[in-house]
Amino acid sequence: MKKTALIFGVTGQDGAYLSKLLLKKNYIVHGVKRRSSNLNSYRIDDIYSDPLIKKTKFFLHYGDITDSISVFNIIKKVKPTEIYNLAAQSHVGVSFEIPEYTTNTDALGTLRILEAIIKINKKIKFYQAGSSEMFGKVVETPQTEKTPFYPRSPYGVAKLYSHWITINYREAYKIFATNGILFNHESPLRGETFVTKKVVKALCKIKYKKQKKLFVGNLYSKRDWGHASDYVEAIWKIMQNKKPDDFVICTGKQYTIKQFINMVATELRIKVKWRGNGIKEKAYDNNNNCIIECSKKYFRPAEVDTLKGDYSKAKKILKWKPKHNIKSLIKDMISYELNILKNDK
Ligand code: NAP
Ligand code: GDP
Repeated sequence: MKKTALIFGVTGQDGAYLSKLLLKKNYIVHGVKRRSSNLNSYRIDDIYSDPLIKKTKFFLHYGDITDSISVFNIIKKVKPTEIYNLAAQSHVGVSFEIPEYTTNTDALGTLRILEAIIKINKKIKFYQAGSSEMFGKVVETPQTEKTPFYPRSPYGVAKLYSHWITINYREAYKIFATNGILFNHESPLRGETFVTKKVVKALCKIKYKKQKKLFVGNLYSKRDWGHASDYVEAIWKIMQNKKPDDFVICTGKQYTIKQFINMVATELRIKVKWRGNGIKEKAYDNNNNCIIECSKKYFRPAEVDTLKGDYSKAKKILKWKPKHNIKSLIKDMISYELNILKNDK
């Protein structure tokens, strides 16, 4: 029998990659999208524009995980075999500005889905999109499934609630409820205010003289960055495992924001020289034009300084490992931006 997946957060980066992966695996895919005054489905337009897929394999429903009624009704109507909860206010910096909304979505949203599952059909499998932000002020490196959590933002705290409520429902109601603890993953489809996408897009524009300067925040935090296409494969494998469990998904390598910027500049053949210290540290091009500056605006009230994971458990049990490295990730992101710039002429 064909499997039916329901994806909350289908219009996001991971929602788009996961939809394509599941369709390739012959699933029927249902996605929940929010009503918005602007178009918010550009990442899945290519799937939805295929009339055959639209009619037979890929269906969208309006809903919102802050709205229990829509969550319940959609699950009841769709009768999914698997539910992927990717929906979230996913920006850490923004979570300090809208903490209550972030908590409602990223913590209580998960509870709403779990409650609907136990009321409608306990056989539905569930995936919760957990985050390395739960490790926050890390107590050990590298971080594994056993590392204690210490979140540093309303986002991290809300995700931690979701992590534990998923485990609690698994134990209390014996449902197949799983957690991914995914480290940062990027792609051409990454949201434009995350640092990798922001840097790649800006440096491509600077290279072709469509932008003069880029403003960033903390250059010295370190992240373990992977490619979203690899990570949705891991998400799917977590859901196909014999038993419901929790897995760290990462690359095991970390770089600072400054190293990331330098790698993007090298790939674009922009020569960058750094001068100054602290908030006054700036980057200059060959002609001594200042092309990157730091701005207080992009610093967080509490920072996660370093993240580096260990994916040994996923490798052993799921036979998963990342196919991309930082270089191939950057190449993919740059090639997408350059293509847009070329077509913009
Ligand atoms: P994303 O691009 O920001 O996508 C988030 C999705 O959630 C979007 O479809 C968004 O809809 C939807 N959404 C937001 N609030 C909602 C609500 N109240 N009700 C229903 N849908 C809502 O995030 P992503 O990068 O794909 O990440 C997917 C999930 O993994 C998120 O939960 C994120 O927190 C988590 N995660 C991401 C990373 C990462 O590095 N990317 C790492 C660890 C965990 P709109 O399109 O309408 O905004
Ligand atoms: P996060 O790890 O989920 O918060 O992903 P982000 O891409 O938003 O941020 C990664 C790191 O980059 C954090 O330590 C930020 O403080 C740092 N950073 C430095 N400059 C920027 C910036 O301009 N925008 C964002 N989003 N992050 C920045």
